[in-house]
Parts: sequence; C-alpha cells; structure tokens
Amino acid sequence: MTTSEKFSRYVLPTYGRFPIAPVRGQGSWLWDEDEVQYLDFCGGIAVTSLGHNHPKLTAAISGQAATLLHCSNLYQIPQQAELAELIIEKCVGLPGKIFFGNSGAEATDGLIKLARRFGGAHPDKNGQPRFEVITFHKSFHGRTLGALSATGQTKIQEGFAPLLPGFKHVPFNDALALQEAITPQTAAILLEPFQGEGGVNAAEADFLLAAQRLCKEHNLLLMLDEVQCGFGRTGKMMGWRSILPDLEPDAISWAKGMGGGFPIGAFWVNDRFIGDQQTPLFTVLGPGSHGSTYGGNPLACAASLAVISEILDADLPANALAREKQIRDEISSWNHPGITEVRGSGLLLGIGLNINVLTPPKDKPTSIHLCSLLLKNGLLAPPAGPETIRFLPALNVSEAETAAALKILKSTLDTYE
Ligand SMILES: *Cc1c(COP(=O)(O)O)cnc(C)c1O
Repeated sequence: MTTSEKFSRYVLPTYGRFPIAPVRGQGSWLWDEDEVQYLDFCGGIAVTSLGHNHPKLTAAISGQAATLLHCSNLYQIPQQAELAELIIEKCVGLPGKIFFGNSGAEATDGLIKLARRFGGAHPDKNGQPRFEVITFHKSFHGRTLGALSATGQTKIQEGFAPLLPGFKHVPFNDALALQEAITPQTAAILLEPFQGEGGVNAAEADFLLAAQRLCKEHNLLLMLDEVQCGFGRTGKMMGWRSILPDLEPDAISWAKGMGGGFPIGAFWVNDRFIGDQQTPLFTVLGPGSHGSTYGGNPLACAASLAVISEILDADLPANALAREKQIRDEISSWNHPGITEVRGSGLLLGIGLNINVLTPPKDKPTSIHLCSLLLKNGLLAPPAGPETIRFLPALNVSEAETAAALKILKSTLDTYE
C-alpha cells in the first residue's frame, strides 16, 4: 500500500491533504518519498521557526531525551522555570506567570478558564459571575470545544452544537461594535493581533487602543491569541509589538513557533493587581485550578528553550523584516493583476488573490488550486481562506531562498489555468 492508500484506509479524513509525503528536511527545504525537493514556505503552518533539522534544536532534543524525558508537574522542572524566565524577561517584557501545555487550542482553553475565574472573582453588580468572552469574525482559536466556540467562523463550528456558551463574535477592527457588545456579563476580550487562518488580517493600532480602553472602563481582561503571530514571526518577539508596542495585555496564548516543531503551547498571565493592591490577576488560577500531565515537561521545554534562544541570539525578527521587505518590493514590482495586496508583518504574510483574474476551478477555491500548482512547481505555501495564500517560512530563510520562492510564485501566476 502507498502512503496515500494507507491514509484512505486508516486515518480519519479530517484534512484535505495535498498529494505529497515529505520525509526529510534541511533548513527551508523538504524532500518527499520520491526524493522530489520542495522549498518550504508553509513551515508546518508557522511552526518550524528555525527550519528543518536545525543543529541546536536537534542537539537540545536528543541531549534532553538521553537525560530526562518526562517528569510530573508534581515536582519542580528546571527547564520549565528557565523557559518561563526567558519568555517573560526577554520576550514579553512585562511581569507575569506562565502555564505550559501542549497546543494552541489548549492554550486558548486556558485563557477562557482564566476569564471565567476572573469573572467569578469579580462578579457583576448583582453578584452574578461574569463569563462572556468577546471574540471576532474570521478569528481562529483552535479545535477543542472551548476553542472552537471562541472561534468566529461558522464552518469550524458546523455540527458541533451545543457549543460552549458565553461567546460573542463581533466584526474585527470595529471599535464601536466591540463597545456595543459589552454587557454586564462580559469578562474578557480575546483577539489575534494578526488573524492567521482568517486570511492574515492585522489589528489596527487604534482598534487595539480602543480594546484596551474598554477593558479598563469595564474591568475586562484583554487577552491576546499569539499562537500564530508570537515569537519573532511578525518581526518582533511579540506580535502585538508590531502594531502597538505599548499595549499591555492581561493574558497571552502561544504555541506553533515556540517549539520549532516540538509540540508545546503556553499562556501567560499578567502580574497586575485586580481590585485591590493585594490580589494579582494570576491568583485566580491557584493550586488545583488547571493542569496538564505532559505540559512543560523537560523535553518540550528544552526544545522551546533552544528555539527561542536561537531566535533571540541570531536576531531572527530582523531577518523576518528584511525578508518581508524583499517580498513586498518584489511583488509590487510585478504589478500582477492576479494579486490584490500583501497583508501582515514579517514572515506572517498573506497574499491576496484576485479571483476575477485567477478564476477558481469548479471543485475548489482559487487559493487551494494555486497552492496545488505551486506545489507542482516545487513550492509549499498554505492557503488562508478562499482568496489568500500565506508565506510562513522559517524565520532564518535566506534572501536567495526567498528570491527562489518568489520566482516560482511569479511563473505559477503567469501560467495559471
Ligand atoms: C493554530 C492556531 C490555534 C490552534 O493551535 P493548535 O496547536 O492547532 O491547537 C489557535 N489560535 C491561533 C491563532 C492559531 O493560529
């Protein structure tokens, strides 16, 4: 049986998969079962921050695996403490505390639990717990029941009713709609500074400012989902700093790029006081309130430590910005009728497609069709909605590799059918 036949027979068909099976990687390159070579601008969907087979990440994982793979959170885990320190001191730059889990959806669920505990500790005027979380149209927060209920896309929720109650979805970048959605039950606002799956849409600085002001006025938590945009991807260590450097979130979720391919997720909670000067926000998640067997184990934390240290030491955010400029300059020089615009920041870029020029075939959206054509020409790039493809390469992708990817994109657009 071929890999593809085994997939049909044994694997739940929850993904529409492209017809290649990568088996080996080096830097920004992948090779499939037939030794065909691809330039990887998918990056495992913004995951492989250092590219494939990075010597520091490989050494950290194999070294830690040979020393101590796993240890329960009933005990103190030095790598977890060190990783939390590195993230807070060198990446977030605001005092807080971190919980480690295994994925983005789990991190989102953690934020929802934080919001509910906070809303319980700070009820409305009638003493009723506040529980509502406001999220946004086209958002994506993950696939657990909690995270998909938070997500502002009906296609993600189809058939899973009843959803977790307590979410309101309002138009993104619409401060007035946000203000009008706030009720006495509202406890938090959750947003992606850069919506990834929803088509690469950046929050506007004014909108973030308005969200922060509304949170202060109504005693709400400002929670950021940085699962896709965090850890250098947008050209800053934290995604929101690419938009509004002074923003002070109450909580942040991460996953994807922080492990470079090793599964790890986390959320951070601000040390700020709530109510009086004795009670920091993090106290709402005290002993027994949350947990994860695997979360933050020695192996996962050693991997993430290697990834984040390398992002900092090699100043990969600067490379992300240089490559963004290269991509934007080159694409705008084409004046291609099939491209409407380039959105996003750093190496979280969405290329908008003009579907009147690049007409979709009968059976699929333009974005997916274009991704298939790119793949045939040796370039991996993921879609984001029907009218956008994304460039999410390794943060250390070179100028020459970027030029090669752009050349494939140009020739594929020129021969689009
Ligand atoms: C991918 C993603 C998630 C979900 O992460 P998983 O690790 O797949 O659970 C959540 N939020 C955002 C913004 C994402 O891009």
